[in-house]
Amino acid sequence: MTTISPMTNKTGRALLSLSSSRWSLKAALFSFVICAGTAFPTSIVKAESPAPTVVVTIKPLHGLVAAVMKGAGAPELLIKGRGNPHGFQLLPSQASLLNKAALIIRVGPMLETSLSNSLSTLGGKGKVLDLMSIPTLKLLDRREANVFHVEPAADDHKSGAEKHEHEDHDHGEHDHDKEGHEKQGHKKDEHSSHNHSGHNHDDYNVDAHIWLSVSNADAIVTAVAERLSKIDPERAELYRKNAAAEKVRLGKLSTEISDKLSPLTGRRFMVFHDAYQYLTRPFGMVFAGAVTIDPNVPPSAGHARDLRRMLKTGAIACVFSEPQYNTKIITSLIEGTDAKLAELDPIGAELETGADSYEKMMRQLINEISDCLKD
Ligand SMILES: [Zn+2]
Repeated sequence: MTTISPMTNKTGRALLSLSSSRWSLKAALFSFVICAGTAFPTSIVKAESPAPTVVVTIKPLHGLVAAVMKGAGAPELLIKGRGNPHGFQLLPSQASLLNKAALIIRVGPMLETSLSNSLSTLGGKGKVLDLMSIPTLKLLDRREANVFHVEPAADDHKSGAEKHEHEDHDHGEHDHDKEGHEKQGHKKDEHSSHNHSGHNHDDYNVDAHIWLSVSNADAIVTAVAERLSKIDPERAELYRKNAAAEKVRLGKLSTEISDKLSPLTGRRFMVFHDAYQYLTRPFGMVFAGAVTIDPNVPPSAGHARDLRRMLKTGAIACVFSEPQYNTKIITSLIEGTDAKLAELDPIGAELETGADSYEKMMRQLINEISDCLKD
């Protein structure tokens, strides 16, 4: 009986309790279990060995990983609730979670910056999957030079309208260039060459909000399934099957996003921090500025003045705040202008964790964007 005693799945328990009533039945069931074990060895092993402990830094990625791990176990989420991935400090409970992990999945040093030091201290570097290193990811450059971050002396003579035209035009062309590159397949190569050069400083030129592109989410799902299959080969088939199913759902989501955002081409918006270009660029929406470049540093008086001047022209349809930050400044910036105020949450902080949380977060984002920006 020692062969079957470790069996803990429901079917196994049912069989064993039945078998206690009569020996002949017990023997028959014993041979059935042994035969079943020989015929389907993986299904028996699956039920016995626990899935690896996987820790995922932020909720959107957690949702994607949860979808890949469905039926095996649930990943752990590191940064919960309204925790801010740009500036979080590791709590002791989070450190012990990282210690237990067989796999830690994060965007990369560009986003969860403070995690890099902790991982070195914890000796966890070897078990990290940096998603920004996935070769098939489409990466966009970080827009460090905010479009309204103008040199006061050179630009002060311009009227608000002139300045807007210049910036809008310039930015529009830039967008178009990027899309052209992507369509021609240049974007990936161009960026993987510096992203895979092993020089970390290059990562800092890349916009880290990679999950807001559904095609990136698709690439992430593939990479996660492959990595999990390596560390947990017994469930490789399950991970790959789950990944394939999630990719189908992502394909549907992509169509929904396109239907919702395509009518918004040319609409101008401002944000609290520049997190959304992966989502908005393909649809030609015009990013007109961000309140902060580094979300942990308040805007300078000069920058706030530039934003206010632009808002007063009436050219900006909507300004999006974020629940992760104190965005009171936006309220004063838009006061007395035509710009509407709405909130976007790029990590879905308020959503329940689960295998469908990525899709829920994206739907929430496109609904908020569309409601605020449509005519
Ligand atoms: Zn961000």
